[in-house]
Amino acid sequence: MVEHAAFVQGITRESIHPGGWVEHEPTGRAVVRCSCGLESGVVTAVRAAQIADDHRRGAAYARACG
Ligand SMILES: [Zn+2]
Repeated sequence: MVEHAAFVQGITRESIHPGGWVEHEPTGRAVVRCSCGLESGVVTAVRAAQIADDHRRGAAYARACG
């Protein structure tokens, strides 16, 4: 049985500052990944949250009907 553990991975941009410290700036974009192999590609963070939610619901529905 395939478990669906969809998660949103925010994409950050690294800026290296004088002195050597690295800042991870959010870009407003994200990727959805799931343990079943789903990968949404880069979408907006808002869209990513929707995709992850829909995917979890879809997986739950498939289980109920399968
Ligand atoms: Zn999945």
